[in-house]
Amino acid sequence: MKLGKQQGNMLRLYNTLTRTIENFQPLHLNASVSMYSCGPTVYDYQHIGHMRRYVGDDMLVRVLKYNGYKVDHVMNITDVGHLVSDSDTGEDKMEKGARKYGKSVWNIAKKFEKQFWISIDELNIKRPDYVMHATDYIADQIALIKILEEKGYTYRIDDGVYFDTTKFKNYYQLSRQNPQALKAGARVDIVAGKKHPEDFALWKFSPKNEKRQMEWESPWGIGFPGWHIECSAMSMKTLGATLDIHTGGIDHINVHHTNEIAQSEAATGKQFVRYWVHHNFLVVEGEKMSKSLGNFFTVQDVVKKGFNPMHLRYLYLQTHYRQEMNFTWESLEAAGNAYDRLVKEIATFTSSSGGAKQFEQQFTDNINDDLNIPKALATVWELIRSDEALPARAASLSKMDTVLGLNLFATAVKQEALEIPQSILNLVKEREGLRKIGDFAASDEMREKIRSLGWEVSDTKTGPEVSPLRS
Ligand code: AMP
Ligand code: ZN
Repeated sequence: MKLGKQQGNMLRLYNTLTRTIENFQPLHLNASVSMYSCGPTVYDYQHIGHMRRYVGDDMLVRVLKYNGYKVDHVMNITDVGHLVSDSDTGEDKMEKGARKYGKSVWNIAKKFEKQFWISIDELNIKRPDYVMHATDYIADQIALIKILEEKGYTYRIDDGVYFDTTKFKNYYQLSRQNPQALKAGARVDIVAGKKHPEDFALWKFSPKNEKRQMEWESPWGIGFPGWHIECSAMSMKTLGATLDIHTGGIDHINVHHTNEIAQSEAATGKQFVRYWVHHNFLVVEGEKMSKSLGNFFTVQDVVKKGFNPMHLRYLYLQTHYRQEMNFTWESLEAAGNAYDRLVKEIATFTSSSGGAKQFEQQFTDNINDDLNIPKALATVWELIRSDEALPARAASLSKMDTVLGLNLFATAVKQEALEIPQSILNLVKEREGLRKIGDFAASDEMREKIRSLGWEVSDTKTGPEVSPLRS
């Protein structure tokens, strides 16, 4: 058994496949942990709901590394084939995005992938080791479909080549759905000729009298791959037939990941994934994020309002990845204040040595307990408030931040360097004078004046504090 470099409780993860929290044990003890994450479909802006997922994946990678594992992390970029509906009908999301923004699909893919990486970097998410674009691996997807065809898992109809889910024994293993119940509620917009509602497209033909912007030759005719096949083809190409970990949003369990398992295991005869990790959703004020509700925000929107992206990261870390997270501006404000306070504490540390072992142990136990990051954050605060020697606190916090990824020390240095103009400091002093003589109306007026100049004064026990204003 490989023991992580941290002593104590070994890493335990909730596995959707077994619906239990299991000890994490990679397949190959001395090799890297293989991890695949379903990445973005680059047809529109990636919002803070999407980004919650990627911060979740980042936490997993960082916790694995903290435990002494090397990680080979692969992510795909879906730039073709992801249809609006999960039942193989409707438009390709990429073509829809292209129409909406009046650009070609290739330009749309470039534009939104760029925005995705900017958000990833702003949130201090480590980039995956391998980034694979679906359109770069069409030949691999065709090769995998050919294997499935040779093994008798496919059939061909006017619309494309389909996977016959009744030929794959454990089709409902991941979703635990009841096929009878599914049949009763089957959707009516089923593709003509499809044998069973759960069957899914491996290859779709281009419409007869229409040229798609993205289409390729194949042994079956001109068309494009179904969405699910890209993840099976690209993950197995890079990581081998059996992956240690596969991640995605909880919405992928019933269809996308169920279909990935069917295709991959039918082709190789081996278990596809050992641990399935699924992230819960982010809602805004209790509602789904959508442009029409006006509650659709990107990381860039958050920054425009004057927040540091690390405030958002701190907010994400406060909710366990399997819980739904409710985003409000008030909660972001509160997370931002907590983050700023943490940074302020860290700015008082002048040297670092040794470590607070008991706190480090507690921290490790928390993160290894199915990534209980909210509890690990509580440990961080306990350590800050403890009577451990300052250099030991500094050393342990810096170690903990390799997992949290909050850039605490770098931010502390930057904020120390942040100069508050003398004119603002004069106004703050003047306002303190007004408060001291009890003229609160005038002191409130003065606070507004300071605000209009772009600075916020807050009154604390130790006196007024000044910070740049958030809109
Ligand atoms: P979309 O680009 O809207 O098709 O979303 C792609 C994937 O991102 C979804 O399948 C989810 O796994 C994830 N996702 C979308 N919206 C959210 C959200 N509000 N919170 C968390 N994950 C989301
Ligand atoms: Zn996928």
